[in-house]
Amino acid sequence: MDIQQLYKDAGALLEGHFLLSSGKHSPNYLQSAKVLEDPKRAEALAKELATQIRKSGLAVDTICSPAIGGLLAGYELARALGVRFIFTERKDGKMTLRRGFEVDPGEKVLICEDIITTGGSAMEAANEVEKRGGEVVGFAALANRGVCKRKNSAIESQKECKLPKDKPFFALADFTFPIYEPDECPLCQSGSTPIKPGSRGN
Ligand code: ZN
Repeated sequence: MDIQQLYKDAGALLEGHFLLSSGKHSPNYLQSAKVLEDPKRAEALAKELATQIRKSGLAVDTICSPAIGGLLAGYELARALGVRFIFTERKDGKMTLRRGFEVDPGEKVLICEDIITTGGSAMEAANEVEKRGGEVVGFAALANRGVCKRKNSAIESQKECKLPKDKPFFALADFTFPIYEPDECPLCQSGSTPIKPGSRGN
């Protein structure tokens, strides 16, 4: 499966001049919700990710995703693995498990996102699951922005990565884009103005 091409075909891999939420500029942007617009494509991606996880031998009881970004990817992954799905959401800025979702003591939970950059939201969800007595066994995302090292990738983890090194991180592909400081951006220097994409995803 050519994941990059699939994102391109879905209109999820944008090319142009973008202002990221970090304040930096990039010629590329991943609008990862677009790749899940088509349920059949979402199912195929999740199945591919599920195959990777099964092959690793990791035991998973439940998938937990941080809302909103991780919901569709996590739900499809849970379906592909045949396990339960729960989600955390922000309440007054704090990531919490609500809506009657519970975690059993020792329940093996895999945290799933659509895209992982530094893994900040994924870690907030993981901390909430562990506070409830669950055991976070690993992390998964459809796309990896190349800050964290995913299983079977040669790209090394950067210091900004918040995921623990002793737990596996599964993702389908690395999406590493050039990123510029605004005053060093060659696109700005050529006279273009960056646009801010609609949602997070940098
Ligand atoms: Zn620029």
